[in-house]
Amino acid sequence: MTANRNAFHDGRGRLFVISGPSGAGKTTVVREICRGPGVWFSVSATTREPRPGERDGVDYFFLDEAEFKRRVEAGLFLEHAVVHGNLYGTPRDEVERRLEAGEHVVLDIDVQGGLQVREKCPGAVMIFLVPPGRRELERRLRGRGTEDPEALRRRLEDADWEIGFSDRYRYLVVNETVEEAVADIRAIMRAESLTMPEGGIERPWRNTRPKS
Ligand code: 5GP
Repeated sequence: MTANRNAFHDGRGRLFVISGPSGAGKTTVVREICRGPGVWFSVSATTREPRPGERDGVDYFFLDEAEFKRRVEAGLFLEHAVVHGNLYGTPRDEVERRLEAGEHVVLDIDVQGGLQVREKCPGAVMIFLVPPGRRELERRLRGRGTEDPEALRRRLEDADWEIGFSDRYRYLVVNETVEEAVADIRAIMRAESLTMPEGGIERPWRNTRPKS
């Protein structure tokens, strides 16, 4: 997918915020969307322990709390929040650099972070991704098997809380299957690439006037 590359656009990429309860399949969907050129997944920083198979700098930048807080103080995050008891944040500079270069940037962040981004970047496209229901969410979280019972209980509670912020998002995508959710989000991205630039098409947009 190429971002805003038609002749009438300023050539900047768009910022997409994807939030929703964890266990909704967000990670899988987001990763799929960011495969291929023109769409870049923003790798967050976190203080949580890596899960098996997760790689530093690919899935997250895994930081200790002191280093995370140092970066907060230095203003290096576009947004940051405590999620499920751990710190998470979006490194600011790379996001800006990619947008400037004309790439779409996708943030997989929680609702607290989403609301911060909405404030700071009014052009951000807000997408809420949900599983088909609460029971299905619970089933998916159990199936994942990465959480102990206490963590599972907390994630379900947090999910209920996150759903309460859904009205702050523009788009709702239900993750019945990964394929459908990916197709829906790609459709949103395409449509959002075709919005009229603010102020309309810049003039003169061609050299000759139509003959009257
Ligand atoms: P997980 O630890 O399961 O990968 O992610 C837990 C939650 O943290 C998910 O809802 C995910 O969207 C959110 N998250 C991941 N990165 C960030 C970030 O940089 N900022 C915020 N606010 N939330 C994040």
